[in-house]
Formats: sequence, structure tokens, C-alpha cells
Amino acid sequence: MENCIFCRIVRGEIPTTKLYEGEGVIAFRDINPQAPVHILVIPKQHFLSLNEVPLEQMNLVQELFSTAKLLAAKENIQDRGYRLVMNTRREGGQSVDHVHLHLLGGRQLGPSLVG
Ligand code: 5GP
Ligand code: ZN
Repeated sequence: MENCIFCRIVRGEIPTTKLYEGEGVIAFRDINPQAPVHILVIPKQHFLSLNEVPLEQMNLVQELFSTAKLLAAKENIQDRGYRLVMNTRREGGQSVDHVHLHLLGGRQLGPSLVG
């Protein structure tokens, strides 16, 4: 995807603080953090949203979660707790059309799921 922001990050065309690179995923800090720890984990391959990830490639979603778990430990928030969020399509609040998992933590997060 030529103009997708996250594809451009994967290609190294937009600078980021890359925290992790795995076989199928990368992780970097959110440019507009909502918490002291706010990391995005994305597949290197472009999928618009979770809806577009085919069943036979759902192992990538497993890799997103296992990477988030690893980074929660690295950032020392695994015991305090953290939140993983995957906004999907418009009404889900998705603003970047490249599937991504938010890792949020480092402060007490609110009780509301829907904000
Ligand atoms: P969404 O609203 O789609 O669930 O989340 C998209 C996230 O991507 C937002 O939290 C936004 O701050 C972040 N974001 C958008 N553009 C960039 C960028 O160029 N670099 C980084 N690091 N994060 C970005
Ligand atoms: Zn993309």
C-alpha cells in the first residue's frame, strides 16, 4: 500500500522509535500517547482491519498479542496491568486503515471500555 502511514513506517520511510521487530510484526511508540506506555503493534503486511485478515493468516494476530505481552514485560507494566485495544472500522474508532493493536499502560486506566 503506497500511501498507508503504517506501511511507510514498515518500509522505514517515516521515522519511529521501533521497539521490536519480529517475523511478521513491528512495534513502535504511538505519536500521540494516551498513557505513559502507548505502543502500537502492527503486521508488516497491509490489512485494512481485522476483518481483512484471512483465517489462514490469523497467526499474525497471535504474533500481535504475543509481542504486546512481551513489550508489557519489557516496559515493566505486566504486573501493574495494561490494556490491549484493537479498534476496528469507523464505529470502532479506527483512524489508520492498517490493522494495529494498542498496548496502553503505566497509569490507572478508566473503567469505561467505550470512552
Ligand atoms: P486508531 O485510532 O486507528 O485505533 O489508532 C491509530 C493510532 O496511530 C493513533 O493512536 C495515532 O496517534 C497513531 N498514529 C497515527 N499516525 C502515526 C504516525 O505517523 N506515527 C506513529 N508513531 N503513530 C501514529
Ligand atoms: Zn498499510
